[in-house]
Amino acid sequence: MKQLKELVRENIWNLKPYSCARDEFKGEAKAYLDANENPFNTLYNRYPDPLQWAVKEKIAELKYVKPSQIMLGVGSDEPIDLIFRVFCEPKQDNVVAINPTYGMYGVCADINNVEYRQVNLEEDFSLDADKVLKSVDVNTKVIFLCSPNNPTGNLLSEAQIEKILKGFDGIVVIDEAYIDFSDKPSWLTKLKKYPQLVILQTFSKAWGLAAARCGMAFASEEIISFFNKVKYPYNINILTQKLILEKLENIDIKENWVKEILSQRTLMIEELKQLSIVKHIYPTDANFVLVKVDDANLRYKQLVDNGIIVRNRNSVTLCENCLRITIGTAQDNKELLKALTSLA
Ligand SMILES: *Cc1c(COP(=O)(O)O)cnc(C)c1O
Repeated sequence: MKQLKELVRENIWNLKPYSCARDEFKGEAKAYLDANENPFNTLYNRYPDPLQWAVKEKIAELKYVKPSQIMLGVGSDEPIDLIFRVFCEPKQDNVVAINPTYGMYGVCADINNVEYRQVNLEEDFSLDADKVLKSVDVNTKVIFLCSPNNPTGNLLSEAQIEKILKGFDGIVVIDEAYIDFSDKPSWLTKLKKYPQLVILQTFSKAWGLAAARCGMAFASEEIISFFNKVKYPYNINILTQKLILEKLENIDIKENWVKEILSQRTLMIEELKQLSIVKHIYPTDANFVLVKVDDANLRYKQLVDNGIIVRNRNSVTLCENCLRITIGTAQDNKELLKALTSLA
């Protein structure tokens, strides 16, 4: 890996971050008269902890990392955007991503005026590290990988990812939004070995908290310190911090949901196999399944007419005639299968 100083934008390296009242004084006091807050207690009259230490300590225990290796964002969207703002000089640097993948990396690249280079996955959605490495040049700051990948559902090969980590001297992002649904371990255990790694996870999927907007970035303390310097000071509000803490105390609930979703996923795949309109079911390690049908546009519309909404991925690279179907409750899935059976 290059020195961090060569990877971080010069203005960010030199940035003197905003110092808020809660940065300058931490701890207990008789009277807080430093932040121009309303003094009357409503539970919400005080600014929240800008670095969310209570939440991070819980997450750190669960994930076997240090609290200082975690950045919490407004969804994963915030750390994705921060990666551009910290590392990529607009109109000069570029990033490389697999294709197809999650759309947000490309949108953030466009917003930040950073070239977005796409490398197609193979026909079976597997990753060829050499192709990715070939598209890298001296201005490539970041490679975006997503495993399990969206919208394809598959995990990327450990050996191919390792090849990228060894062959590239910039930042490598692995988006693990769906890792809770996979039986393979997270890349979190490799953070020490590969200091260039940034791992993204989220409370939006398995944890059932999409509405709370909270994502996690894990990286070296040094990389996290740059994210903290650039993020809005009070990005995670106190309602979200309290809610996340409460959910972290009840991991069983999440684990039971994951079990149920995985058993529903197995059932769904078995049932889909029986349908003549289904041409191929791609292997999945996520809470959704990508399915090739005879005519995705037609089947999508017919499902909408039946009150069932799936994601039409027909126009996505390598996903012609594919629908992405989220695994729902037993009832949701029954409704979908009933509708599809009536069309077949
Ligand atoms: C759903 C999803 C996310 C989660 O985004 P949030 O902003 O945390 O809700 C992140 N990455 C991928 C690949 C996703 O599919």
